[in-house]
Amino acid sequence: MPVVGYVTDGTGSHDGRIFQRDGPPCVAAVGDMNTMKCFCFLLAMASVFMAGCATRRLNYIGGVSNCCELHQVKMSKTTVPVLYNLVPVDECAKAREAACETSFPNARQWVAPPGLVVPPGAPTEAVIYSCPICEIVREHWELNSAKW
Ligand SMILES: [Zn+2]
Repeated sequence: MPVVGYVTDGTGSHDGRIFQRDGPPCVAAVGDMNTMKCFCFLLAMASVFMAGCATRRLNYIGGVSNCCELHQVKMSKTTVPVLYNLVPVDECAKAREAACETSFPNARQWVAPPGLVVPPGAPTEAVIYSCPICEIVREHWELNSAKW
């Protein structure tokens, strides 16, 4: 499922440029607690590092319905970190990606734009929609899949 949004300048406005990336709006994650703690530490360090950088935000909600297509409930706006080249791609991540596509498509904890090159001043945050039911399903999936 492709994800489409507007490129913003961080002020909430956009100049009409649209970006699109392939894959579900969810990215891979980790499953076991040790790996999760390690990843959370890296995420926290990345957040601290990025705090001093530009605060421009990617807008993943422009032109997108605020209704979860799976659960048919209204979603809320949330801000998540943008990860560049930090997303794990192990077997657990693949399993989570597959589950995300079918069970919790709107429970992202970060976004990972395509591409391997991070442009200078690249956005460090993204505004996305979050579904309350997707969040519950994701948490349930992570609790019951922490066997990696
Ligand atoms: Zn949902």
